[in-house]
Amino acid sequence: MGRSPLLSAELATLTKTTETTTAHKKQGCNAGDTSFVPLMRLFRVEQLCMLCSDSSSEFLHFSDAISAFIRAFSLLIASIHLQGNFLSVMYSLCRQAIVNPVSRKAVYGTSIRAFSSSQDADLVVIGAGPGGYVAAIKAAQLGMKTVCVEKGATFGGTCLNVGCIPSKAMLNNSHFYHMAKHGDLHNRGIEGQVTLNLDTMLKAKEKSVKDLTNGVAMLFKANKVGSVNGHGTITGPNQVTVKKADGSTEIINSRNILIASGSEVTPFPGISIDEKQIVSSTGALCLTKVPKKLIVIGAGVIGLELGSVWQRLGAEVTAIEFLGSIGGAGIDGELAKNFQRSLSTQGFKFLLNTKVIGAQQQGENITVTVESNKDNKQQTIDCDALLVAIGRRPYTDNLGLDNVGLKTDNRGRIPVNDHFQTSVPSIYAIGDVIEGPMLAHKAEDEGIIAVEGIAGGPVHIDYNCIPSVVYTHPEVAWVGQNEEQLKEKNITYKIGKFPFSANSRAKTNNDAEGFVKVLSDKESDRLLGVHIIGPNAGEMIAEATLALEYGASCEDIARVCHPHPTLSEAFREANLHAYCGKPINSI
Ligand SMILES: Cc1cc2nc3c(=O)[nH]c(=O)nc-3n(C[C@H](O)[C@H](O)[C@H](O)COP(=O)(O)OP(=O)(O)OC[C@H]3O[C@@H](n4cnc5c(N)ncnc54)[C@H](O)[C@@H]3O)c2cc1C
Repeated sequence: MGRSPLLSAELATLTKTTETTTAHKKQGCNAGDTSFVPLMRLFRVEQLCMLCSDSSSEFLHFSDAISAFIRAFSLLIASIHLQGNFLSVMYSLCRQAIVNPVSRKAVYGTSIRAFSSSQDADLVVIGAGPGGYVAAIKAAQLGMKTVCVEKGATFGGTCLNVGCIPSKAMLNNSHFYHMAKHGDLHNRGIEGQVTLNLDTMLKAKEKSVKDLTNGVAMLFKANKVGSVNGHGTITGPNQVTVKKADGSTEIINSRNILIASGSEVTPFPGISIDEKQIVSSTGALCLTKVPKKLIVIGAGVIGLELGSVWQRLGAEVTAIEFLGSIGGAGIDGELAKNFQRSLSTQGFKFLLNTKVIGAQQQGENITVTVESNKDNKQQTIDCDALLVAIGRRPYTDNLGLDNVGLKTDNRGRIPVNDHFQTSVPSIYAIGDVIEGPMLAHKAEDEGIIAVEGIAGGPVHIDYNCIPSVVYTHPEVAWVGQNEEQLKEKNITYKIGKFPFSANSRAKTNNDAEGFVKVLSDKESDRLLGVHIIGPNAGEMIAEATLALEYGASCEDIARVCHPHPTLSEAFREANLHAYCGKPINSI
């Protein structure tokens, strides 16, 4: 198998520096504190050689193992000769060989075959959602023999099939329709009558889903991730049994198991979902006609996004929310108010501080009974479509947790330590099935660092730096702490704000609703949180997230050159406001 140019280059450099250091050593030069370096380089060279020569190998033959062992042994003797540090060498070898299965393969040139079955693996990932498929690819890239088990017909999990991707396709296209239908395009000099072809819009959504789920299959192939289609059940600390659609089973023995089984829609007690008229988010993505009246139970992110889609396409939408504000957990109070005002202007109706008691379906009509939290007054509202969007819950059905003594917490989540390891050391879990925000990018990040950890690398994630986005129009995005959280923690802070109405690009685009709000530590000027409502907030929050991860101050950000004319200048100006009290382009 050919080496990648990068690996070849690294090998060349390592070999050269190793030779140089060894020569120096032979000439009696004092290596000082770096005396261990040539040894480690020799090992690195040896590891790279083995990884390069057979990165896709499964389990090698006995003769390969013997020859690899002789290679490793000669290397060990040579290294001891160089270093005279037997204990350190042994420690290094043992750590590489025992703690880290990838290195074990690299050091010995083979994996120790501990189990017999149809498939043996270094890692079995259960679930090919954004957490699982990303983790599987990363693991394969790190040299692990990886198998991903997925019960669905396609890869990509909730996100690609019935979540992020189809909802964003519908949001994007319904926005264009709304712009055309309600005179926005006309005001830009684009004339013509538009009509909705819902069937085509749904097909466009399906195409993006198909392209992206097929893309995961291609990535699996390119990265040599094995996959098995069927329901995976953990049948031992190192074993997953897959039940396939045809009723057959396959046993996969593996050194490690990563659970990435995700989440499912939380049902509403007493309301049964038929995915036609009474729908969850899944059914709301494929209604075959625009409802006249849509009631959404829950004004969190999913309820608002899907409510927006159908409201733009012509439905009269009412969102019923138990809490006193919209936007879900973590949204800044000021943003939530502005967001509600903005959506109300578009025609959204809200019943806040209100709980749904039940729903009765009679033919085309659904009668929803609600009760005010304030005065317990009940009322009924009619609709022809009802969307239940009260959240999602971890999915662990028939996962076999009991088989290995794993328990879930009071919310059905699998408890893990800071290495994503469950109470069974060979079993890990990530994504929606564990604690934390149910977001695709959170699942992805956890997947990557969990497998890096399994391979012996460091494991670190800062949950304060996970951004949230609501893809409505205007978009809403935030990262870090909001004002309410800072007040609760008695942290003194400064606020920097900049309205899009003073931003040249937003004005040029005639899309200037909203503002950027930054919160910084009053004493140190360190950025604590960023909250944006406005055009492209979801893209802009990435820069804020980077700044937060790197511990930037508002002055740092304000001194960075931003391209003109862009919306990102509003972020810079908000930081300027926070750090010195005065933005340039607004009064
Ligand atoms: C309508 C909607 C819109 C969303 N929009 C966004 C968004 O814009 N941005 C965002 O970040 N997040 C969004 N989310 C949330 C996001 O989809 C989830 O947070 C994300 O998919 C979680 O990833 P995961 O890998 O943990 O689980 P999942 O994506 O749920 O994947 C789990 C996979 O495991 C499989 N599986 C489960 N059990 C087994 C088993 N025993 N054997 C084999 N396979 C199994 C399932 O079939 C599934 O494919 C949205 C969700 C919804 C519903």
